[in-house]
Amino acid sequence: MFIRHPLRFFMLLLTFATLVAGASLITHRVSQSMGLAELQTTGRHRLDLYAASLEREIGKYAYFPATLGLERDVLDLFVHTGDSKLPGRVNTYLEQLNERAGTLAIYVLDDTGKVLASSNWRRSDSYVGEDLSFRPYFRDAMETGNGRFFGIGTTRSEPGYYLSSALAADGLILGVAIVKVSLEQLEKSWSTVEAPVLVADENGVVILSSVPDWKFTTLRPLDEKTRSAFDRTQQYNRRALQSLGVTETASLDRGARLLTIAKEKQEMVSVYPVAGPFLAQSQPLSGTPWTLTVFSQLEPLDDLSAIRATVAGVTTVLLCILAMMVYQRRLHLRARLKAREDLQKAHDDLERKVAERTADLSAANQQLQGEVAERVRAERTLRAAQDELIQAGKLAVIGRLSAGIAHELNQPLAALRTLSGNATRFLDRGDAVTARSNLERIAQLVDRMGLITGQLKAFAHKSSGQPRPVDVQQAVAHAIALLEQRLDAVGAQVTATFAGGKLYALCDPNRLDQVIVNLIGNALDAMTEQAKPCIELSGAACGPMARLTVRDNGAGLSAEAESRLFEPFFTTKEAGVGLGLGLVISAGIVSDFGGTLSGANHPEGGALFTLEIPIATEAPAS
Ligand code: ADP
Repeated sequence: MFIRHPLRFFMLLLTFATLVAGASLITHRVSQSMGLAELQTTGRHRLDLYAASLEREIGKYAYFPATLGLERDVLDLFVHTGDSKLPGRVNTYLEQLNERAGTLAIYVLDDTGKVLASSNWRRSDSYVGEDLSFRPYFRDAMETGNGRFFGIGTTRSEPGYYLSSALAADGLILGVAIVKVSLEQLEKSWSTVEAPVLVADENGVVILSSVPDWKFTTLRPLDEKTRSAFDRTQQYNRRALQSLGVTETASLDRGARLLTIAKEKQEMVSVYPVAGPFLAQSQPLSGTPWTLTVFSQLEPLDDLSAIRATVAGVTTVLLCILAMMVYQRRLHLRARLKAREDLQKAHDDLERKVAERTADLSAANQQLQGEVAERVRAERTLRAAQDELIQAGKLAVIGRLSAGIAHELNQPLAALRTLSGNATRFLDRGDAVTARSNLERIAQLVDRMGLITGQLKAFAHKSSGQPRPVDVQQAVAHAIALLEQRLDAVGAQVTATFAGGKLYALCDPNRLDQVIVNLIGNALDAMTEQAKPCIELSGAACGPMARLTVRDNGAGLSAEAESRLFEPFFTTKEAGVGLGLGLVISAGIVSDFGGTLSGANHPEGGALFTLEIPIATEAPAS
């Protein structure tokens, strides 16, 4: 579907890509922030724990230097009692004290910073006699009563935490007592920690760390002034203070920071990495100017976030695919539903149309039936009218024949009168032979009259018009017989030839007689001027039709007559002679039987009428 709409497909892809990217990004962010929050909580706990143990460790010694002021011998050192054994005693005392306390060194300075006694008095590199006035812990103690200082020993280069307290008597500061504590013990306990931890002093120099390499590196760049101060105080015993390579990337709440530690040659310490991204949480150590910093690795968090983001992305992709599938399925279902609805609608429409059409059809059918009935009625009326017309045409012919028939009957009647009179006389005379001859003649005449009236009666008969096989030759003979008187009157010669034997046509015999009588009658009318009137009738089968032609040698058809032959009431004859209906009725009769009637001029003169009626295969029932 989408392939047909590349733009839509592209937009969809873009939306999906945005969704996937958005889901991954949000998951990454949420995972990061949740992980960070968790890391922060863990880090804070660690921080609290480490700070507490460190403070406890340092706190143990907090009042230690001050307690030296309670020792008489120590105080006597400052007042020069002249006791030559006093320094030795104090040294021993400090030595023993140092041993018992587990500190690195305990020593006493006079108010000029010169070491008067020290626990390490026995050693060749003993502090005794050294001037340590440059050490800040001395100055701080002199100025404020207490001093805290982390530094590296100038003599043995041993790092340690110096706690100093001013020793005073009668409100006068006599000197300073110093305890140097090693924090190595603490460091050792850190070796099991899971993430780097360090303590930086006020200068940002790492003084303690679970990562040995980090020690005496700087967390922040040192300016020249600070560096020269270090030279002066020899705080770090002129160690080269390398930078730890910390780059802060973000600052979070409660002193937490995100930072990166530059990769050094050594990247792993025991189980945890010491380079890369970290969450750093710091806390000042109370009683010291130091800051404890705990590092939490960010790499696992980053990895976890990346995995979660990937999972979210993949899940979103799957969801998108699922959504697409559901959408496609819904589309498919909707299309199917629509197709079904359309089909149902089309079906309903079709049914409605069918119902309408059926209703229309039944209405049309009823109308048609009405029309058919009407037509049948009209046809019946027409048929009746036609029959009447045919009958009228027939009567017209009879009318025209009546004079001849009357003449035809009058002659035998007169003859009968004479013959019957003569017969009586011959009987009276006893001439039975002549009387018999006369009577026989009378019988012949009566037969002939009966024949004439019979023919007339048959012609006048109103026929049913039902088609049946008719002998065409016989029909021609009937017509000639009917017209015999007229034919004789004009002396017309009539010939009838039938090629191929009997010719039967499928029609009504009475009506066929009428047509032939009409055609011969018209021929006779056309030949009144002709000296030798001649009519030729010829019949033949022509395919499925029985053909009969009537040719005369009259004047032929005028151009007007030829074109208007079958027009009702067209006649060229005088009023009373012709009505102009003969051919019309004849053509109607022929056409009723499925035949044709045509008229034309014969090339050799005269008119030629051709009659064609479907041929009958069976002979007429006699
Ligand atoms: P009617 O005989 O009463 O005139 P018809 O319909 O029979 O009516 O004939 C129409 C006309 O056709 C005739 O008036 C005549 O002019 C012409 N006609 C018919 N038959 C012939 C024929 N054999 N020769 C010449 N003219 C004819």
